[in-house]
Amino acid sequence: MDVSSRLGVLTSGGDAQGMNAAVRAVVRTGLHLGAEVFAVDDGWQGAVDGHIRALAWDDVGSILNRGGTVIGTARSADFRTRPGRLRAARNLLERGIDRLVVVGGDGSLTGTELFRTEWPGLLEELVATGGLDAATAAAHPELFVAGLVGSIDNDMVGTEMTIGADSALHRIVEALDAIASTAASHQRTFVVEVMGRHCGYLALMAAVAGGSDYVLIPESPPAPGWEEEMVDKLRESRAAGRRESMVLVAEGARDRAGAPITAAYVRGVLQDRLSEDARVTILGHVQRGGAPSAYDRWMSTLLGYAAAQEVLSAEPGGEPHVVGVRHNRITLLPLVEAVSATRAVATAVDAGDYAGAMAARGSSFTEMVRTYATMSRPPVATAPGPRRRVAVLHAGGLAPGMNTAARAAVRLGLDRGMTVLGVNGGFPGLIDGDVVELAWHDVEGWVGEGGAGLGTRRAVPEVEQLYALGRAIERLELDGLLIIGGFNAYLAAHRMVTERDRYPAFALPIVCVPASIDNNLPGSELSIGADTALNNIVEALDKIKQSASAAKRCFVVETMGRRCGYLALMAGLAAGAERVYLPEEGMSLAELATDTERMVASFRAGRRLFLAIRNETASDLYTTDVLARIFQEEGHGLYDVRQAVLGHLQQGGNPSPFDRILATRLVSHAIADLAGQLEAGTAEGRYLGLVGSDVVAHPLVHMDEEVDLSARRPRHQWWLGLRPAIEAVSRQGTPAGEA
Ligand code: ATP
Repeated sequence: MDVSSRLGVLTSGGDAQGMNAAVRAVVRTGLHLGAEVFAVDDGWQGAVDGHIRALAWDDVGSILNRGGTVIGTARSADFRTRPGRLRAARNLLERGIDRLVVVGGDGSLTGTELFRTEWPGLLEELVATGGLDAATAAAHPELFVAGLVGSIDNDMVGTEMTIGADSALHRIVEALDAIASTAASHQRTFVVEVMGRHCGYLALMAAVAGGSDYVLIPESPPAPGWEEEMVDKLRESRAAGRRESMVLVAEGARDRAGAPITAAYVRGVLQDRLSEDARVTILGHVQRGGAPSAYDRWMSTLLGYAAAQEVLSAEPGGEPHVVGVRHNRITLLPLVEAVSATRAVATAVDAGDYAGAMAARGSSFTEMVRTYATMSRPPVATAPGPRRRVAVLHAGGLAPGMNTAARAAVRLGLDRGMTVLGVNGGFPGLIDGDVVELAWHDVEGWVGEGGAGLGTRRAVPEVEQLYALGRAIERLELDGLLIIGGFNAYLAAHRMVTERDRYPAFALPIVCVPASIDNNLPGSELSIGADTALNNIVEALDKIKQSASAAKRCFVVETMGRRCGYLALMAGLAAGAERVYLPEEGMSLAELATDTERMVASFRAGRRLFLAIRNETASDLYTTDVLARIFQEEGHGLYDVRQAVLGHLQQGGNPSPFDRILATRLVSHAIADLAGQLEAGTAEGRYLGLVGSDVVAHPLVHMDEEVDLSARRPRHQWWLGLRPAIEAVSRQGTPAGEA
């Protein structure tokens, strides 16, 4: 990489939570790689006006937790004109900047590409008119750019998530939860409008996560006569036990003829036909505001880290890229194609090509539309006949989202004609026959409730209990078993499938769904509950960090995770920790000595805050207390040290939108698997998981090959590869080669 590079970063178009994390990562990675880094304030307008300033490492400190963008954003009419772009080129080159990371929506990225392609012509004109000397123009013949998509709508084709979309979903779901409690008290109907001019992502996912009754999105307009269908659906849900009704309308919702469907119109329909007062809430800019979610902090950090690397290593003649997310990994997309494909969706929607628009959103979006349609409507009574009996149970530690998963199991199971039995209290409850048949309305309200209504227990059936377990399964006449839980749940299921020769009662379809805040389960990159726990940790760290504003302070914070460092590492990325201690790596005296020296040196150099995150089992010897005492002792009063063991707040609270969506998606696959097996007469044991962006089933019999049983974690953990990003953005002065 060219160490003399000068790199600019700007945020443009609508602001989005997480832009600050991206800016911070671009700046620090740039500095880490030896470049000089500049902020172009207020988007392209800052380039036009020459509002460009050099940034140092600390200039982007303490911004991860802030919404919006600290370098400002704007919609610049000047930049749309050639004279404006001429001024922008001259201003950038006055500071020697010919590499840019632009964070914005498709409009901003279109402008970026135009500017890039025009660059040689702009320079020629500037030289000809005396605005630039020929030598400077010759030294910067090309503009190198990388794009990051900042858009709460999640509307860019080719990237699974855009910066800000997850936080916007947090705001919407918080609002829906709040509205639901008041609506249920009065048995009221609410119509809620959410953002999304061309993209129904926010509305659809919020409807799934908020347990709403009906959703209207631009890509999938309802058929003529939808008003009657909506009203019927609301009536049926009320009759089946719902106390409130909620309709979500995306800003850009329309009918098949292309006429807009507004929240006010929906309200009118409901009032006329249900003879019931309906209230409208337009969430508006609340969705853009507030602190970024954990995901928008860690993912945007990774995106910024990758974008700075990409643009600083770009070679002349290369193709510009958007740095996005695909299959849960950072990926490079050709900028021109990504932008034009995105524009094509808006055009398709406007032209009434809804199939094309849906196809562009990808298969998991389409799948969620179907799952939502099934779950939000009470099942029609099926013909009498033998119904297959499927039991749902939780095992292992509590994970937020277990209730969401159980609710999905009940509703999707009923839809497939199953009798769904809820097991109270995990495997001990099953052995005792403590089960209850669950109806559609029994799980009302479970979509967003923390905890586990069915209860969960860590106990794995002992060898001497297997007989009783088999007898219970026979007595209850179970045809299938859905186990939603953590490591012990998986161990128990594995034991059952490997003991089938001795206990024929275990020869029934068994499907496991991963639910554990530790994220230590095989076959799934993410388990239900981990995102919520991470959000809990990040919120706690925000408060802890703020408490230090008055003094120089080092915090040593202990996270859960057992022998899996996922929560510690991701919290470190999301909260900007200077040091993270993981069980996968252990802790050594030599390392501690280096860390302490570095920390003391950084406080001497003016640092006011140092955050170290330690997983609870990172070392038996160097406990959180020992670590804090070492740091204190070596500081000799230069700073003080506080320790915080976050404890069970990590497991508590309502599930995050992502965990609700993940739970719904995984369970819909699990129920489909069980239904398929019951129909085919097979009795496989499987565990499901998210691999990239797909849900994949793995055979339980081979589970032991995938896990390190003594460490109780998968042999391969994808997130360990994110370590260098933390080093680059958190440790000032670490030479590039070391990270
Ligand atoms: P959002 O998704 O929030 O709307 P966006 O980036 O798409 O964000 P736009 O208003 O479309 O927002 O664009 C932001 C800015 O990017 C514009 O104000 C303008 O400065 C620049 N820009 C957009 N399109 C062009 C273009 N075709 N030519 C030059 N500049 C453009």
